Amino acid sequence: SIPLSFFAGLGGSSREGVLIKGSNYMEMLSKVRTVVFDKTGTLTKGVFEVNGIHHSKLQDEELLYFAAHVESASSHPISKSLQKAFGKDIDRKLVSDIKEISGKGVTGIVDGKKVAAGNEKLMKELGIDFIPCHHTGTIVHVAIDDKYAGHILISDVIKSESGDAIRSLKGSGIKKTIMLSGDAKAVATEVAESLKLDEVRSELLPGDKVSEIERIINENGKDGKVAFVGDGINDAPVLSRADIGIAMGALGSDAAIEAADVVLMNDDPRLIAKAIKISRKCMSIVY
Ligand code: ADP
Ligand code: MG
Repeated sequence: SIPLSFFAGLGGSSREGVLIKGSNYMEMLSKVRTVVFDKTGTLTKGVFEVNGIHHSKLQDEELLYFAAHVESASSHPISKSLQKAFGKDIDRKLVSDIKEISGKGVTGIVDGKKVAAGNEKLMKELGIDFIPCHHTGTIVHVAIDDKYAGHILISDVIKSESGDAIRSLKGSGIKKTIMLSGDAKAVATEVAESLKLDEVRSELLPGDKVSEIERIINENGKDGKVAFVGDGINDAPVLSRADIGIAMGALGSDAAIEAADVVLMNDDPRLIAKAIKISRKCMSIVY
Protein backbone atom coordinates (compact mmCIF):
# COMPACT_ATOMS: atom_id res chain seq x y z
CA SER A 1 0.00 0.00 0.00
CA ILE A 2 1.05 3.62 -0.51
CA PRO A 3 2.16 5.41 2.67
CA LEU A 4 -0.05 8.31 3.68
CA SER A 5 2.88 10.74 3.57
CA PHE A 6 2.98 10.32 -0.22
CA PHE A 7 -0.43 11.93 -0.41
CA ALA A 8 0.73 14.69 1.90
CA GLY A 9 3.70 15.16 -0.45
CA LEU A 10 1.49 15.28 -3.53
CA GLY A 11 -0.78 17.85 -1.87
CA GLY A 12 2.13 19.98 -0.73
CA SER A 13 3.76 19.97 -4.15
CA SER A 14 0.53 20.96 -5.90
CA ARG A 15 0.35 24.05 -3.68
CA GLU A 16 3.78 25.00 -5.02
CA GLY A 17 2.56 24.61 -8.60
CA VAL A 18 4.02 21.15 -9.17
CA LEU A 19 1.64 18.35 -10.19
CA ILE A 20 3.06 14.86 -9.76
CA LYS A 21 0.95 12.18 -11.41
CA GLY A 22 1.61 9.42 -8.86
CA SER A 23 3.73 8.21 -6.00
CA ASN A 24 6.12 6.25 -8.26
CA TYR A 25 6.96 9.50 -10.08
CA MET A 26 7.61 11.20 -6.75
CA GLU A 27 10.26 8.54 -6.11
CA MET A 28 11.72 8.81 -9.66
CA LEU A 29 11.94 12.59 -9.36
CA SER A 30 13.89 12.33 -6.11
CA LYS A 31 16.51 10.20 -7.94
CA VAL A 32 17.05 12.53 -10.91
CA ARG A 33 20.73 13.40 -11.54
CA THR A 34 20.56 14.45 -15.21
CA VAL A 35 18.17 17.13 -16.48
CA VAL A 36 17.58 17.45 -20.23
CA PHE A 37 15.81 20.51 -21.61
CA ASP A 38 14.04 21.46 -24.78
CA LYS A 39 15.05 25.01 -25.79
CA THR A 40 12.10 26.92 -27.20
CA GLY A 41 9.56 27.86 -24.55
CA THR A 42 11.45 25.95 -21.86
CA LEU A 43 14.75 27.84 -21.43
CA THR A 44 13.82 30.63 -23.85
CA LYS A 45 10.62 32.65 -23.88
CA GLY A 46 9.33 31.14 -27.11
CA VAL A 47 8.46 34.61 -28.34
CA PHE A 48 10.37 35.44 -31.53
CA GLU A 49 10.99 38.95 -32.80
CA VAL A 50 11.53 39.57 -36.49
CA ASN A 51 15.06 40.93 -37.06
CA GLY A 52 15.14 41.03 -40.82
CA ILE A 53 13.35 40.08 -44.00
CA HIS A 54 15.22 39.22 -47.18
CA HIS A 55 13.70 38.49 -50.57
CA SER A 56 14.10 39.10 -54.24
CA LYS A 57 10.94 40.29 -55.95
CA LEU A 58 8.37 40.71 -53.20
CA GLN A 59 7.83 43.51 -50.70
CA ASP A 60 8.67 42.79 -47.03
CA GLU A 61 5.00 42.93 -46.23
CA GLU A 62 4.09 40.39 -48.91
CA LEU A 63 6.59 37.83 -47.65
CA LEU A 64 5.30 38.27 -44.11
CA TYR A 65 1.72 38.08 -45.39
CA PHE A 66 2.28 34.65 -46.97
CA ALA A 67 4.32 33.37 -44.02
CA ALA A 68 1.80 34.53 -41.40
CA HIS A 69 -1.11 33.05 -43.35
CA VAL A 70 0.48 29.65 -43.93
CA GLU A 71 1.46 29.61 -40.23
CA SER A 72 -2.04 30.60 -39.08
CA ALA A 73 -3.25 27.12 -38.12
CA SER A 74 -0.24 26.23 -36.00
CA SER A 75 0.33 26.93 -32.32
CA HIS A 76 4.12 26.61 -32.67
CA PRO A 77 5.92 29.58 -31.06
CA ILE A 78 7.36 30.52 -34.49
CA SER A 79 3.87 30.53 -36.01
CA LYS A 80 2.41 32.69 -33.29
CA SER A 81 5.33 35.11 -33.54
CA LEU A 82 5.04 35.51 -37.33
CA GLN A 83 1.29 36.17 -37.02
CA LYS A 84 2.02 38.83 -34.42
CA ALA A 85 4.76 40.38 -36.56
CA PHE A 86 2.37 40.59 -39.53
CA GLY A 87 0.19 42.63 -37.22
CA LYS A 88 -3.00 42.51 -39.27
CA ASP A 89 -5.97 40.19 -39.25
CA ILE A 90 -5.38 36.80 -40.78
CA ASP A 91 -8.06 35.88 -43.30
CA ARG A 92 -8.49 32.16 -42.61
CA LYS A 93 -10.81 31.77 -45.60
CA LEU A 94 -7.78 32.31 -47.86
CA VAL A 95 -5.90 29.43 -46.26
CA SER A 96 -6.32 25.72 -46.95
CA ASP A 97 -4.53 22.35 -47.07
CA ILE A 98 -2.22 23.22 -44.17
CA LYS A 99 0.31 20.58 -43.25
CA GLU A 100 2.62 20.94 -40.26
CA ILE A 101 5.88 19.05 -40.62
CA SER A 102 7.29 18.78 -37.13
CA GLY A 103 10.83 20.04 -36.70
CA LYS A 104 10.71 21.56 -40.19
CA GLY A 105 7.81 23.97 -40.75
CA VAL A 106 4.46 24.24 -42.52
CA THR A 107 3.03 24.06 -46.04
CA GLY A 108 -0.37 25.05 -47.43
CA ILE A 109 -2.35 27.06 -49.94
CA VAL A 110 -2.66 30.80 -49.35
CA ASP A 111 -4.75 32.92 -51.69
CA GLY A 112 -4.42 30.29 -54.42
CA LYS A 113 -0.64 30.00 -54.09
CA LYS A 114 1.36 27.04 -52.77
CA VAL A 115 3.30 28.32 -49.77
CA ALA A 116 5.96 26.68 -47.60
CA ALA A 117 7.60 28.26 -44.53
CA GLY A 118 10.27 26.54 -42.49
CA ASN A 119 13.94 25.66 -42.17
CA GLU A 120 16.51 24.33 -44.66
CA LYS A 121 15.36 20.77 -43.97
CA LEU A 122 11.88 21.70 -45.23
CA MET A 123 13.25 23.41 -48.35
CA LYS A 124 15.40 20.33 -49.12
CA GLU A 125 12.43 18.00 -48.58
CA LEU A 126 10.37 20.06 -51.05
CA GLY A 127 13.23 20.30 -53.55
CA ILE A 128 13.27 24.11 -53.37
CA ASP A 129 16.47 25.76 -54.58
CA PHE A 130 16.96 27.98 -51.52
CA ILE A 131 19.70 30.47 -50.73
CA PRO A 132 21.42 29.50 -47.45
CA CYS A 133 21.36 32.28 -44.86
CA HIS A 134 24.57 32.78 -42.88
CA HIS A 135 23.16 35.03 -40.17
CA THR A 136 23.12 33.66 -36.65
CA GLY A 137 19.50 33.26 -35.77
CA THR A 138 16.44 31.20 -36.42
CA ILE A 139 15.62 31.37 -40.10
CA VAL A 140 12.24 30.85 -41.71
CA HIS A 141 12.69 30.25 -45.43
CA VAL A 142 9.63 30.92 -47.58
CA ALA A 143 8.77 29.36 -50.94
CA ILE A 144 5.84 30.41 -53.10
CA ASP A 145 4.59 28.19 -55.93
CA ASP A 146 7.68 25.99 -55.58
CA LYS A 147 10.06 28.91 -56.02
CA TYR A 148 12.29 30.35 -53.34
CA ALA A 149 10.85 33.70 -52.20
CA GLY A 150 13.20 34.71 -49.35
CA HIS A 151 13.65 34.33 -45.65
CA ILE A 152 12.67 35.90 -42.36
CA LEU A 153 15.31 36.13 -39.63
CA ILE A 154 13.83 35.79 -36.15
CA SER A 155 15.19 35.56 -32.62
CA ASP A 156 14.02 34.49 -29.21
CA VAL A 157 15.47 35.45 -25.80
CA ILE A 158 16.51 33.40 -22.78
CA LYS A 159 13.99 33.58 -19.91
CA SER A 160 15.25 35.81 -17.11
CA GLU A 161 14.87 32.94 -14.59
CA SER A 162 16.79 30.31 -16.61
CA GLY A 163 20.24 31.19 -15.21
CA ASP A 164 19.02 30.82 -11.62
CA ALA A 165 17.16 27.65 -12.54
CA ILE A 166 20.35 25.99 -13.83
CA ARG A 167 22.44 27.23 -10.90
CA SER A 168 20.01 25.85 -8.33
CA LEU A 169 19.89 22.49 -10.11
CA LYS A 170 23.71 22.34 -10.03
CA GLY A 171 23.68 23.44 -6.39
CA SER A 172 21.30 20.67 -5.44
CA GLY A 173 23.34 17.77 -6.75
CA ILE A 174 22.23 17.54 -10.38
CA LYS A 175 25.30 16.18 -12.18
CA LYS A 176 24.54 17.07 -15.76
CA THR A 177 22.35 19.57 -17.66
CA ILE A 178 21.77 19.02 -21.38
CA MET A 179 19.76 20.87 -24.05
CA LEU A 180 18.21 19.20 -27.11
CA SER A 181 17.03 21.56 -29.83
CA GLY A 182 15.57 21.45 -33.31
CA ASP A 183 16.94 24.93 -33.93
CA ALA A 184 20.14 25.91 -35.78
CA LYS A 185 23.49 24.99 -34.23
CA ALA A 186 24.67 28.57 -33.72
CA VAL A 187 21.46 29.53 -31.90
CA ALA A 188 21.40 26.45 -29.66
CA THR A 189 25.12 26.76 -28.83
CA GLU A 190 24.75 30.41 -27.84
CA VAL A 191 21.91 29.61 -25.42
CA ALA A 192 23.71 26.58 -23.95
CA GLU A 193 26.98 28.50 -23.44
CA SER A 194 25.34 31.48 -21.86
CA LEU A 195 23.50 29.18 -19.40
CA LYS A 196 26.66 27.05 -18.85
CA LEU A 197 24.89 23.82 -19.73
CA ASP A 198 27.12 20.74 -19.86
CA GLU A 199 25.99 19.51 -23.28
CA VAL A 200 23.96 20.67 -26.28
CA ARG A 201 22.63 18.92 -29.41
CA SER A 202 20.99 20.92 -32.19
CA GLU A 203 19.17 20.55 -35.52
CA LEU A 204 17.34 17.51 -34.16
CA LEU A 205 14.05 16.24 -35.54
CA PRO A 206 11.52 15.03 -32.96
CA GLY A 207 12.60 11.42 -33.63
CA ASP A 208 16.27 12.35 -33.13
CA LYS A 209 15.38 13.75 -29.71
CA VAL A 210 14.01 10.33 -28.73
CA SER A 211 17.25 8.57 -29.76
CA GLU A 212 19.27 11.25 -27.94
CA ILE A 213 17.32 10.69 -24.70
CA GLU A 214 17.94 6.95 -25.05
CA ARG A 215 21.67 7.59 -25.46
CA ILE A 216 21.66 9.93 -22.45
CA ILE A 217 19.88 7.31 -20.30
CA ASN A 218 22.44 4.71 -21.39
CA GLU A 219 25.38 6.96 -20.61
CA ASN A 220 24.13 8.53 -17.38
CA GLY A 221 21.77 5.92 -15.95
CA LYS A 222 24.41 4.69 -13.50
CA ASP A 223 24.41 8.12 -11.81
CA GLY A 224 20.65 8.34 -11.38
CA LYS A 225 17.46 9.05 -13.29
CA VAL A 226 17.15 11.25 -16.38
CA ALA A 227 14.41 13.91 -16.57
CA PHE A 228 13.31 15.67 -19.76
CA VAL A 229 11.61 19.08 -19.59
CA GLY A 230 9.58 20.38 -22.54
CA ASP A 231 6.30 21.95 -23.51
CA GLY A 232 5.56 21.44 -27.19
CA ILE A 233 3.54 18.92 -29.18
CA ASN A 234 6.85 17.67 -30.61
CA ASP A 235 8.07 16.95 -27.12
CA ALA A 236 5.47 14.29 -26.26
CA PRO A 237 7.52 11.27 -27.49
CA VAL A 238 10.61 12.45 -25.56
CA LEU A 239 8.58 13.16 -22.42
CA SER A 240 7.32 9.56 -22.55
CA ARG A 241 10.76 8.06 -23.22
CA ALA A 242 12.64 9.87 -20.40
CA ASP A 243 12.76 8.25 -16.94
CA ILE A 244 10.62 11.18 -15.90
CA GLY A 245 8.89 13.64 -18.25
CA ILE A 246 8.24 17.15 -16.98
CA ALA A 247 5.80 19.35 -18.93
CA MET A 248 6.35 23.01 -18.36
CA GLY A 249 3.79 25.76 -18.25
CA ALA A 250 0.05 25.99 -17.99
CA LEU A 251 0.24 26.88 -21.69
CA GLY A 252 2.06 23.69 -22.62
CA SER A 253 0.43 21.64 -25.36
CA ASP A 254 -2.25 19.10 -24.36
CA ALA A 255 -0.10 16.34 -25.86
CA ALA A 256 2.85 17.33 -23.66
CA ILE A 257 0.73 17.54 -20.50
CA GLU A 258 -0.78 14.13 -21.31
CA ALA A 259 2.59 12.47 -21.95
CA ALA A 260 4.29 13.97 -18.89
CA ASP A 261 4.70 12.44 -15.42
CA VAL A 262 5.08 15.82 -13.75
CA VAL A 263 3.35 19.05 -14.81
CA LEU A 264 4.64 22.46 -13.73
CA MET A 265 1.81 24.96 -13.47
CA ASN A 266 3.71 27.92 -14.87
CA ASP A 267 6.66 28.40 -17.18
CA ASP A 268 9.22 29.42 -14.57
CA PRO A 269 12.13 26.95 -14.98
CA ARG A 270 13.11 27.44 -11.31
CA LEU A 271 10.14 25.19 -10.49
CA ILE A 272 12.18 22.19 -11.73
CA ALA A 273 14.68 22.36 -8.84
CA LYS A 274 11.80 23.06 -6.48
CA ALA A 275 9.96 19.94 -7.67
CA ILE A 276 13.07 17.81 -7.15
CA LYS A 277 13.55 19.23 -3.64
CA ILE A 278 9.93 18.55 -2.72
CA SER A 279 10.23 14.96 -3.95
CA ARG A 280 13.44 14.35 -1.96
CA LYS A 281 11.85 15.77 1.17
CA CYS A 282 8.78 13.62 0.66
CA MET A 283 10.89 10.48 0.14
CA SER A 284 12.94 11.19 3.26
CA ILE A 285 9.73 11.33 5.28
CA VAL A 286 8.43 8.12 3.73
CA TYR A 287 11.60 6.12 4.41
P1 ADP B 1 12.80 23.28 -30.59
O1 ADP B 1 13.71 22.12 -30.43
O2 ADP B 1 13.54 24.59 -30.53
O3 ADP B 1 11.63 23.23 -29.66
P2 ADP B 1 11.13 22.44 -32.89
O4 ADP B 1 11.43 20.97 -32.91
O5 ADP B 1 9.77 22.84 -32.50
O6 ADP B 1 12.24 23.27 -32.07
O7 ADP B 1 11.45 23.02 -34.33
C1 ADP B 1 12.75 22.90 -34.87
C2 ADP B 1 12.94 23.83 -36.02
O8 ADP B 1 12.00 23.50 -37.06
C3 ADP B 1 12.69 25.30 -35.73
O9 ADP B 1 13.83 25.93 -35.21
C4 ADP B 1 12.33 25.81 -37.11
O10 ADP B 1 13.49 26.00 -37.89
C5 ADP B 1 11.55 24.67 -37.71
N1 ADP B 1 10.10 24.80 -37.49
C6 ADP B 1 9.33 24.01 -36.69
N2 ADP B 1 8.06 24.40 -36.73
C7 ADP B 1 8.01 25.49 -37.53
C8 ADP B 1 6.97 26.37 -37.97
N3 ADP B 1 5.71 26.24 -37.56
N4 ADP B 1 7.31 27.37 -38.81
C9 ADP B 1 8.57 27.53 -39.23
N5 ADP B 1 9.59 26.76 -38.86
C10 ADP B 1 9.32 25.74 -38.03
MG1 MG C 1 9.88 22.76 -28.83
